[in-house]
Amino acid sequence: IIMSSLQKITILGSTGSIGVNTLDVIARHPERYQVFALTGASQLEKLAQQCVQFKPRFAVVLDAASAQTLAALLKERGSATEVLWGVSALSDVATAADVDAVMAAIVGAAGMQPTLDAARAGKRILLANKETLVLAGSLFMDAVRESGAALLPIDSEHNAIFQVLPGAYRENPYASCLQDAGVKRILLTASGGPFRTMAHEALHHVSPEQACKHPNWSMGRKISVDSASLMNKGLEVIEARWLFNAPEKNDISVVVHPQSVVHSMVEYMDGSVLAQLGNPDMRTPIAYGMAYPERIDAGVKSLDFFSVGRLDFEAPDLQRFPCLQLAFDALAAGSAAPAILNAANEVAVEGFLNNALRFTDIPRLIEAVLGQCTHRASAESLEALLSADEMARAAARQWLQSHPLC
Ligand code: NAD
Ligand code: MG
Repeated sequence: IIMSSLQKITILGSTGSIGVNTLDVIARHPERYQVFALTGASQLEKLAQQCVQFKPRFAVVLDAASAQTLAALLKERGSATEVLWGVSALSDVATAADVDAVMAAIVGAAGMQPTLDAARAGKRILLANKETLVLAGSLFMDAVRESGAALLPIDSEHNAIFQVLPGAYRENPYASCLQDAGVKRILLTASGGPFRTMAHEALHHVSPEQACKHPNWSMGRKISVDSASLMNKGLEVIEARWLFNAPEKNDISVVVHPQSVVHSMVEYMDGSVLAQLGNPDMRTPIAYGMAYPERIDAGVKSLDFFSVGRLDFEAPDLQRFPCLQLAFDALAAGSAAPAILNAANEVAVEGFLNNALRFTDIPRLIEAVLGQCTHRASAESLEALLSADEMARAAARQWLQSHPLC
């Protein structure tokens, strides 16, 4: 028997949906995984409970007041976890010498810096935070190559694609190209979200609660709204472009598949299409990324083909869901356009969740911000991208203010 050595993991965003699922997998394999650090922005009681159960060296929160509260909660329970705070502490626990793997599960562009730092430090990156690649895909992939970090996609579609790509290609996609690996195209599946069959006019009146009720997956609120608008699929197209070195227009196609059983596919030049199937449960891609190239139990139920019954496929409707088209356009425009798209979307989604914006105004706001900011931004450096992000957020907030809900 080969004994795998103990892996030390930092979970950025441990209190979120991906973070909790990651801890669930870790709890099943105490002989393989040990938690080095946990981080969270709010939900301090939940973070304290996680610290008591998993005994990390460090817990990181965002500000001094939260640190004080968390430290008090931990002291009450006799926990030895040390509390740190601030964005540089996020990077510290993602790059510490003792850390083997980093689960990047903070939501939004806020997750980019510590994830990039972990890549530069050559860690095994378990990448859930797709916004990192949308904001700074080229830079991030350069950092991964230069440090020799292992990059394992956790987003279920990208994890599926990774699983069915040739082994040599998936581990080093920039050493050749998809065509040389015999790949014709990547087929990214999309559930279509909760409004897949809803009439255009009805979309105008949907509430945040309706948008967050995803038919197949239980996720954080931001990604749930993105799934409802199909922006999530747009962000994932950009994510796949960078992860798999897929720069051509026809390299990636989107296929709506309401059952979310086929998690994505790769079509080869000989006509073969390879797919990865399973129940929609994020513990599968998480366990795959953690154990790669081995396989471990993830606590996921067997796929019951007879209760699934059928698999349906349809084309995405870009008229009703313009966010997907906006993402295709931003990817084609290149430079800082994807960063601007992402920043505008984050502000729009927050506005929608706070009832300050209609669902159908999300793409209107993003389109306006793209038009206003793209020609003024550059992607030359990380600083340039971060200032594009900031410019887009300011423009998006201004749009929100000048379009009050009536
Ligand atoms: P979530 O909202 O449930 O959790 C987000 C986590 O990030 C929490 O721990 C929160 O405290 C932390 N956080 C939020 N804002 C922060 C900030 N400014 N600074 C530091 N930490 C902050 O989100 P989620 O659904 O777990 O998604 C996390 C990431 O994974 C997202 O990028 C999402 O797109 C991606 N993802 C999620 C799923 C899923 O099933 N939930 C699937 C694929 C990809
Ligand atoms: Mg996904």
